[in-house]
Amino acid sequence: MIDVKAPPSPGHAVPSREIASLQARLQCYEVALGNVSIGIASFDSANRLLLRNDRYAYLYGLLPAQVRVGMKLHDLLALRAAVGAMPDMSADEYLTLTQTEDSMRAPTGRVIELKNGRVVVVRFQPLPDGGFVSTHEDITERRNAENRVAHMARHDALTGLPNRALLRERLDQALGDCGRPCAVMSLDLDDFKTVNDAFGYQLGDMVLRATADRLAQGLPPGTFLARLGADEFAVVLAGATTPEATQALAERLLRDVGRPHTIEGQPVTPIASIGIALAPRDGTNVDDLLRHADLALSTVKSSGGGQAALFSPTMESAVQRRRALQADLRTAIADDALALVYQPVADLESGHVTGFEALLRWDRPGHGRVSPAEFIPLAEETGLIVPIGAWVLRHACTEAARWPRRLRVAVNVSAAQFRAPGLYEAVTGALAVSGLAASRLELEITESAMMQNWQETAGTLQRLKQLGVRVAMDDFGTGYSSLGSLRKFPFDKIKIDQSFVRELSATTESVAIVRAIVALCGALGMTTTAEGVETREQLAILAEEGCTEVQGYLFSMPRPPSDIAEMLAQFDAAGPAASPIRRPAFAAGPREAG
Ligand code: C2E
Ligand code: MG
Ligand code: MG
Repeated sequence: MIDVKAPPSPGHAVPSREIASLQARLQCYEVALGNVSIGIASFDSANRLLLRNDRYAYLYGLLPAQVRVGMKLHDLLALRAAVGAMPDMSADEYLTLTQTEDSMRAPTGRVIELKNGRVVVVRFQPLPDGGFVSTHEDITERRNAENRVAHMARHDALTGLPNRALLRERLDQALGDCGRPCAVMSLDLDDFKTVNDAFGYQLGDMVLRATADRLAQGLPPGTFLARLGADEFAVVLAGATTPEATQALAERLLRDVGRPHTIEGQPVTPIASIGIALAPRDGTNVDDLLRHADLALSTVKSSGGGQAALFSPTMESAVQRRRALQADLRTAIADDALALVYQPVADLESGHVTGFEALLRWDRPGHGRVSPAEFIPLAEETGLIVPIGAWVLRHACTEAARWPRRLRVAVNVSAAQFRAPGLYEAVTGALAVSGLAASRLELEITESAMMQNWQETAGTLQRLKQLGVRVAMDDFGTGYSSLGSLRKFPFDKIKIDQSFVRELSATTESVAIVRAIVALCGALGMTTTAEGVETREQLAILAEEGCTEVQGYLFSMPRPPSDIAEMLAQFDAAGPAASPIRRPAFAAGPREAG
């Protein structure tokens, strides 16, 4: 229903036909005004209400009866103010703001935010007689949706924390034009992927949310916290701070984050690492500071993680060294400059060699022999492990095909090889090219490789097992969930990690662990191989505990394929039935050669 002021009394008689037509048009306008979704109000030159539709009243929280034709705009604004339907200003201020000279001459419009939270677009259309028509459109929902989209673009959905885009903005503000002092921390959970793989994504998400909460609680007021990616967080502390104070804060955060959680009844203890960059000493712009904080973080991580470190320029040279290593490794693959050495594995009871483990070696020009512990992780990161792994399989199988048929060859396979497609084909291809029986090939896979995408990994292993290939778990006891991984796949063999073997003589705890592993594997029908056997004392304990096989420097270093016959002869020298325990010949194993 629209309310209009009665038309002024006519000075002369109007034909009834014209009156009827006028009334019809008026009715038409009335219907139209009553049905539009925007509020409409018109005022004369003295700011008296001439016309309004019901929508106008409702939009401002009033009843149509309260908004009477003829009332002064000032009184109407007072009514609106009483229900919070005015901006945070007086009626006079509002009139001064909206009724400018410009608005009297040409159409104007402005967005008005009301005290009750609604947002209205008001447009003013001046009339020739000095009055005006105003339209009022409630855009609150649209504005909220826009705000939500804008929030989503700059925040992380899982934790609600600001994202990288907002972090960059805030860091830019903190730095100003001249690189004002501030600190940036880059934080990352160590081995979080393994937590995700072991416990599932839902639980992983809970750990991330709990980590975000702990960080937020542990930070001083005014600190800016963001989540940059999966398990990556960043902190900006604006204002001057000392390296010592920032380091102390970072270490406190690591302790907070590292307190154990019980999530859905499961104990989870995350470990985090932090890299710190300080402005202006480590950079005066956003890119340099973030890069340097990340560099400090990756330096911490590559030395084992779980710590906080300040950026130092020497870290850049370490990264350059890694890049150079990577480039040289690519060349080595292209030039076929990698080599394999072989370490014998012997049956403890019979004293026979059962096979050899193939271990990769790289003589890097100008640097000498580089340990696989150094270049395998790099090859995994860069994907180079895939061609390297295929090369190892081919060469190891071809070499083993020349050995007596009772001997097996063990090849190490890393997680990255399982993640990339083609491992099954690489194995079958190597067997086909070499003519080696599948039952003579054993793949060694670490627990952490097993835990990453274990379903896919187990699927590939299962197919390989069906071919007759044997599967061993390497470095058993060093991962997150050793016992859990035993349930996931029927391994043929478990290799007890060197760390337990090394401690065998010193502590009874390791003896108990070895005893438990041997008993468990016996029950599950798996054989046990002890790695890293260096002393006769360790060997005696392993024999006592019933370990199946042994491997280590006590018997032989890994040696080049040309030494295989010699290594076999050494074992055979004492007679096939004699156990290595009775062999003084092994007291000093030969050194590893080319
Ligand atoms: P791993 O598979 O657990 O291999 C055993 C490591 O222990 C070898 O180190 C071996 O030389 C060393 N070792 C053997 N006996 C003893 C001992 O009595 N005492 C001590 N302290 N160490 C002993 P290496 O050759 O440096 O290899 C290190 C790791 O690099 C391997 O651990 C394996 O995880 C990885 N790796 C080596 N070759 C390859 C490969 O071809 N492919 C993949 N994916 N990984 C490889
Ligand atoms: Mg191995
Ligand atoms: Mg091992």
